[in-house]
Amino acid sequence: MKKLDGKVAIITGGASGIGEATAHAFAKHGARAVVIADIQDEKGQQVVESIGAHRCKYIHCDVTDEEQVKGMVEWTVNAYGQLDIMFSNAGILSGSNQVILDLDFSRFDRLFAVNVRGMAACVKHAARAMVDGRVRGSIVCTASVAASRAARVRTDYTMSKHAVLGLVRAASQQLGEHGIRVNSVSPYAVATPMIRNEIGKEAEEIERLATDVMPLKGMALKAEHIADAVVFLASDDSAIVTGHDLVVDGGFINQVAAIQP
Ligand code: NAD
Repeated sequence: MKKLDGKVAIITGGASGIGEATAHAFAKHGARAVVIADIQDEKGQQVVESIGAHRCKYIHCDVTDEEQVKGMVEWTVNAYGQLDIMFSNAGILSGSNQVILDLDFSRFDRLFAVNVRGMAACVKHAARAMVDGRVRGSIVCTASVAASRAARVRTDYTMSKHAVLGLVRAASQQLGEHGIRVNSVSPYAVATPMIRNEIGKEAEEIERLATDVMPLKGMALKAEHIADAVVFLASDDSAIVTGHDLVVDGGFINQVAAIQP
């Protein structure tokens, strides 16, 4: 069943990983236009070719630059008449050695510029286009299981994903009167290039390690599972869901300690 028939969508970070899988899922579900916004131009063009240039376009957009975000949203509205869905998904890691005692603030600032400021710029300009166009749109942000857990490492990343939940909660309250929904999706470990580069292991090894600690057995978490959750949040299947964080983690964040009082 085509859940996104005729919709116009933007996906930031759409050239790779979760964004790429979601671009394919949006197209499969009938989206009229899927605009991929990323800084990896060659990879972005490859995604366009694999989906088909008739319904997928690539735009170079660095989400840390608000003018580029504004321009990318304006280009989409000019080209397709409206914006129905913003999947604000671009994000980076800055290394597992970002522990509080050694926190490097230049890396912290760079990470926050993408994961927090960039995320907010995408929500702001997508929401403006939806309000101006009187579109009851859906905005989905990529948070993480790191948004609702403590962390032994990656302090800046953990802080940034907690901030995404704050953005989603605030924006969902403020945009409700316009009929605009704002939700987040929170994946556990998916073996995308981001994770593979960070921990220096092959995809199969990452999937095995993740599967070992997920209470739900018998399957590995894939980018396509996150894409399915995003399709749900983007579509009318979730028509009255807003301000919600949809965790996709095989039960990882709810697991209990081996020894309990
Ligand atoms: P990925 O590296 O495969 O994809 C991220 C994309 O974002 C890349 O194409 C990259 O070029 C793009 N990007 C980075 N900086 C950008 C910028 N300034 N402007 C525009 N695009 C930019 O990684 P992924 O795992 O697919 O990550 C997608 C999102 O999922 C991120 O927000 C990440 O934090 C989140 N996430 C991933 C996992 C995981 O295990 N893979 C888990 C939880 C959350």
